[in-house]
Amino acid sequence: MIENISQLPPWIFSLIGLAYGLIVGSFANVCISRLPKKESVVFPASHCPHCNKPIHATDNIPLISYILLKGKCRNCKRKISLIYPVIELITGLLMAAVFYRFGFSWECLIFAIVVPALVIITMIDIEHQIIPDAITLPGIIFGLAAGSYLNGWLDSVIGLVLGGGMFWLLAEGYLRMRGKMGMGGGDIKYIAAAGALMGWVQVLFIIFIGALAGGIFGGIGMGVKKLNFLSRIPFGPFLALATLISIFFGDPIVNWYLNLVTRQPL
Ligand SMILES: [Zn+2]
Repeated sequence: MIENISQLPPWIFSLIGLAYGLIVGSFANVCISRLPKKESVVFPASHCPHCNKPIHATDNIPLISYILLKGKCRNCKRKISLIYPVIELITGLLMAAVFYRFGFSWECLIFAIVVPALVIITMIDIEHQIIPDAITLPGIIFGLAAGSYLNGWLDSVIGLVLGGGMFWLLAEGYLRMRGKMGMGGGDIKYIAAAGALMGWVQVLFIIFIGALAGGIFGGIGMGVKKLNFLSRIPFGPFLALATLISIFFGDPIVNWYLNLVTRQPL
């Protein structure tokens, strides 16, 4: 059975990833709306945000139900936000990419857990400006275990301490100078988890890309909308995006850069 799966052509394997991602994306929607309220993500079953009527299993098929019901609740006929199917589709496509990139492997299993968490973190941070402990704390444990498998335990521990330590120092420095929190504790725990998972080289890459993306977005925001230096832009989405880039392209980009600077491959 396992040999059969590992011998599947990559495109069939990524279709399995797509199906898995659509289902997980549906669960991600539940997490996005319930985790900030500290509600259980298991009970009760999904219900309509307007009339609270439980959604029947046959009306809860990712993407397909939304299209068949034309984006309306079967009971009260009110419109269901387009964000739900969009989250399902994004998670589905990302999982198709993960399955394609990593094939039938432990890496695939690890990132099949991590990538949906990145989607959830992004959406919750945009809506509520927090990254819940319910994700980051298990994330640190998972990061240490998975990171030890991927890069060795030492690299994992250094990644955790380096990432978490840098953000903690930044937050402390900002607090001392300005007398208020600039970076949330959620960001610190997040980067500690990301460092444990990806190792010390990639956590520096993630911080660099996250700061770059956040800076570009903030710059555009100041030009287009009336954001200013004091506007609170959630950093989580940029860190999540940078982590995603690190997962798919981190090693080749870092090697290319080191080659450019030192003419020595890592
Ligand atoms: Zn309804």
